[in-house]
Amino acid sequence: NVRVRFAPSPTGPLHIGGVRTALFNYLFAKKNNGTFVLRIEDTDQTRYVANAEKYIIDALDWCGIPFDEGPGKNEKFGPYRQSERKNLYKKYADALVASNQAYYAFDTAEELDSLRKEAEENKSVFVYNNVSRETLNNSIHLSKEEVDQKLANGDKYVIRFKTPKDQKLILDDMIRGEIIIDTNTLDDKILFKSDGMPTYHLANIVDDHLMQISHVIRGEEWLPSLPLHSLLYEAFGWIAPKFAHLPLILKPVGKGKLSKRDGDKLGFPVFPLEYTNQETNEVSRGYKEDGYFNDAFINMLALLGWNPGTEQEIFSLEELVKEFDIKRVSKSGAKFSADKTKWFNQQYMQEKNDDEIASEFVKLYQNELKDFDLSFVTKVVSQVKERAVFTKDLWDLADYYFVNPTSYDEKAAKKQWKPDTKDIMLEVKEIIKEIEDFSSLTIETKVKEYLTEKELGFGKVMPPLRLCIVGEMKGPHLFDIIEMIGKEKSLLRIDNAIE
Ligand code: GLU
Repeated sequence: NVRVRFAPSPTGPLHIGGVRTALFNYLFAKKNNGTFVLRIEDTDQTRYVANAEKYIIDALDWCGIPFDEGPGKNEKFGPYRQSERKNLYKKYADALVASNQAYYAFDTAEELDSLRKEAEENKSVFVYNNVSRETLNNSIHLSKEEVDQKLANGDKYVIRFKTPKDQKLILDDMIRGEIIIDTNTLDDKILFKSDGMPTYHLANIVDDHLMQISHVIRGEEWLPSLPLHSLLYEAFGWIAPKFAHLPLILKPVGKGKLSKRDGDKLGFPVFPLEYTNQETNEVSRGYKEDGYFNDAFINMLALLGWNPGTEQEIFSLEELVKEFDIKRVSKSGAKFSADKTKWFNQQYMQEKNDDEIASEFVKLYQNELKDFDLSFVTKVVSQVKERAVFTKDLWDLADYYFVNPTSYDEKAAKKQWKPDTKDIMLEVKEIIKEIEDFSSLTIETKVKEYLTEKELGFGKVMPPLRLCIVGEMKGPHLFDIIEMIGKEKSLLRIDNAIE
C-alpha cells in the first residue's frame, strides 16, 4: 500500500524545487495506486508565514496535482499540521530517553557558543557527539538525582539523540543506491527543543510512521539527514520507509542551485503562482500570471531530473503517471532552462483547441476585441498561433485583423514602394472590388491572373499589398488575411495606404 507525502514548511511561497518534489510524489503515488498526503511542517514558529499554507494548496491545485489526504481533506490520519499535533511528540522523545537512546542536555546557548568559539580559535569545529557529550552538561553522566533536581528547578533543557558509536550504517536510496556512513561522523542532533516543540527530525519521523508513509521522496538537501532518520527508526523499533532523494535543480547559467535571485535577475518565474511578501510588499513572479499553461509547466518540471528513456518530450499528466519510474531519476543535478520552458508552452499552445485559446485571448483584450465574434477570433487564432508562446502574444501577432494600420513600417515601405506601386495597387483594388465569392482562394486566383496578364513579378505586387493590408511585412498567407477582414475593409486599407 503506497503512501507518500509532501511535507513543506510554510515559510513562504513554494519554489519550483518544492513543486517538483510534490509532482514526483504525486506521480509515484498515482502510478502505484497509492495515496498522496500533504503534511504541513510548521513546528518552527519563528519562520512561519501566515498565507503560505494557502499558497501551497492553491499552487498544487493550479498544477493539477491535488493531494488525497491533508488539512481539511480525508483526515484519516489527521491533524495534518504539525502545530496541531505538538502534544504528541514529547512522549516519543521521552521513550528514547527511557531506553537510553536519547538524553537531556542542559547546556545553555552561551556555553555552547563559547565552545564553538574556542574550537574556532583552535582551527577546529565543535560537534556535540559521542566524544564531547561525555564532558558536557547532560544526563549521560549526571546522576539521576542531579537530573531530577534540574528538571524540578525548571532548568531549560533539550533532548538529544544519542548517536551510537563505531557503527557502519548501510543506507539505501532508491535513486542513489547504497550509501555507507560511519556513525562517528554524526553529531547528537536535538530531537526536542527547550520551547516544548519537537525539531523537524523528530516530528518528521514520528509523523511518517503514524501516517504509515511507505516512501519518502524529497529533495537532495535532506540527504544528510538520512543517517539520523534511519537510526531513529531503528531506535523506535519501527520499519523505515524507503527513501528517494531528488537531484538539485541548477541555475541556467553558472554553477549551483537555482535560487529566487536567478529568476529575478534573468527575468523568469521560480514560483508557480505570483507571491506578495506581506512584510515588504515585494511581488515575485508566478508561472500562472506570466501566462504559462499549467500542463506545459508540469511537463517541463517532470523532465527536470527524470527522463523516460526515449526521445519523447511532450507528456500529458496521465502519460507521466504511466511512464514515471523513480529508477529513471538521475543522481546529478538538473539544469533549469527558461527557454525550454517557453518552448514547452509554445508546443502546448499548438495542441490546445483554438476556441479555448480564443476565449482566453478575449479575456485578456476585452476592449480591443469586444466588437468581434468569438468564431472570428478563433479563426484568427488558428492562423497566427504557430508563432505564439503565450496567449498574450496573440495581440501583437494579430492586431491587424482587428484594427486598420495607422502607420507603415518605414524600412519596408522604402524598399517595396516603387514609383509605379500606387497605380498597381489601384488596379489590384479594382480587381478585389469585383470579386463576388470573397474566399482566399478566389482572391488569390484573381490577383494572380492579373499578374500574368500584366506580366508583373510577384515582388511588385505582393509585398506592397501586404504593407497596405497589414502595415508591416508580418503575418500568415496574405489572401487568408484579406478574406478574414473582408472586402470593404481591404479596399479601405488600400486607399488609406496610397494616400
Ligand atoms: N519540512 C521539510 C521541508 O520543508 C520536509 C523534508 C522532508 O520531506 O522530509 O522540505
